[in-house]
Amino acid sequence: MNKAFTRPTLSMTNEELLKENCLLRDQLQDFLERAHQNQQIMSRHQSLDLKLIGANSFRELIITIFTTLPETSDLDIVTLSLIDHKSSLREVLIDLKLDLNEFPHLVFVSNVQELGALERGLSKPLLGAYKEHAHASFFATCAKKPGSMAIIPLIRHNKLIGCLNLGSADPMRFNPSMATDFIENLASIIAICLENVINSERLTYIGLTDALTNVSNRRFVEQRMLEEISRARRQQYSITCMYMDIDFFKKINDQYGHQSGDDVLREVASRIKAELRLSDTLGRFGGEEFVVILVNANLHEAFQVAERIRISIASKTFLLSMAGACDTSISIGLSTLNEANNQGDISTAAHELLWRADRALYDAKEQGRNRVCHSEERAPT
Ligand code: GH3
Ligand code: MG
Ligand code: MG
Repeated sequence: MNKAFTRPTLSMTNEELLKENCLLRDQLQDFLERAHQNQQIMSRHQSLDLKLIGANSFRELIITIFTTLPETSDLDIVTLSLIDHKSSLREVLIDLKLDLNEFPHLVFVSNVQELGALERGLSKPLLGAYKEHAHASFFATCAKKPGSMAIIPLIRHNKLIGCLNLGSADPMRFNPSMATDFIENLASIIAICLENVINSERLTYIGLTDALTNVSNRRFVEQRMLEEISRARRQQYSITCMYMDIDFFKKINDQYGHQSGDDVLREVASRIKAELRLSDTLGRFGGEEFVVILVNANLHEAFQVAERIRISIASKTFLLSMAGACDTSISIGLSTLNEANNQGDISTAAHELLWRADRALYDAKEQGRNRVCHSEERAPT
């Protein structure tokens, strides 16, 4: 606490001087304490900055924004709105198996207009009391609305990419007359970090995606299979592998041309995907072969899914972009790892699971194609 003191003069008594001295000491102590507190705040924010910059993935960055930032800055609410045209970012993240339900305060909007208050070309943070009619969309995911808030635009290359929304129960915490350079600096760091991790997720996605069908590629499925087998083992559920191959696909190429063959491959991939859950993994393994990993599904359930896929391909004509149409069918081999046989080395288990599904696919082809078979045969060692 600052206390006024009188400048010592020659006429002051000893007692007055001592009193004055005490006051000065208190004041000095107060300054030191405040300097120490500021130092601590500074170093907490520096370590927040380092944590933001060091985030290696979109998930890690979002966790830092939603957990470390409120702790560091003593906030009651943090939400993040991101502009995601045509849901392209969401698709990448979902395909890379990020569970977006993990982050209820992360909101995607499809355009700037949906950001409401920022629509008027706001390039500066908006600080002040929370008003339901104007700011509800920024805190729609919060049960308890803030007393005061700061809506900070996130800008990269002169373009608004979203906004960071900070809320405090204290109605005086944010007010329009506050200096904003500190939070603007924080927003710049967050915007750069977001751009970095989003670019890196997109690159990962491209490297793990089949360019023709847009489903995952073989590398991704193989990687995923190892992760899914170990998770199924920990959580004690079954997983099923489906190996699929289009029947007489060569004839389609021969009869309608390679481009029409590509149309069929794309449509087959999308019909398979339509029958799966988000947690399942679909990949093109090469040529006209697809592999699916069904999570938490036993053989009976997998059979039903496989039958639905088989019927959706066999029962509906494929329209070709070069004009015309054709029909086709698919053969499917199934193999399952359940709580009892999911043991031993993970990569051996993955190899065996795939081998058995391939064997079952061979049986399906042998038995006349357009059917689902399963194999319990063990892979040769
Ligand atoms: P089966 O019922 O025994 O599986 O007969 P199939 O004709 O489907 O099998 P085969 O392995 O003889 O033929 C697969 C064909 O898939 C041959 C190849 O030209 C074609 N193919 C592989 N990759 C592509 C691709 O990316 N696009 C197109 N259009 N065709 C492809
Ligand atoms: Mg084949
Ligand atoms: Mg084939």
